[in-house]
Amino acid sequence: MLTEKEAKKFYNSADWKRKRAFILARDNFECQECRNRLLRAAETGEILIGKDRYIHYAQQVHHIKELKDYPELALDDNNLESVCISCHNRIHGRDPDSIKAEHAEAKRPKQWQEFW
Ligand SMILES: [Zn+2]
Ligand SMILES: [Zn+2]
Repeated sequence: MLTEKEAKKFYNSADWKRKRAFILARDNFECQECRNRLLRAAETGEILIGKDRYIHYAQQVHHIKELKDYPELALDDNNLESVCISCHNRIHGRDPDSIKAEHAEAKRPKQWQEFW
């Protein structure tokens, strides 16, 4: 288990910033949740409407198994996926505070913004 403070420190670390860039590039900046939704719809014949028809641009990297519960998987490629903001909100139950804490957006250094 990580404390809030430890998690925050992790999200500000150079290791995480490097890893996040790597994961976004690996996923071609495509939201993996959107991708799964489209694949699922293609299989089941489900009709998608509006914005759900597209794979959105991924801006964030999500820990599939939560960082706080699985700190040993913090930098594990298999535990990381690129996600768009709306999918990320959905995954986290639309709790904007947890997203904010997780990604520490306010503190993102300037040179980092080109990835967004
Ligand atoms: Zn998405
Ligand atoms: Zn997340």
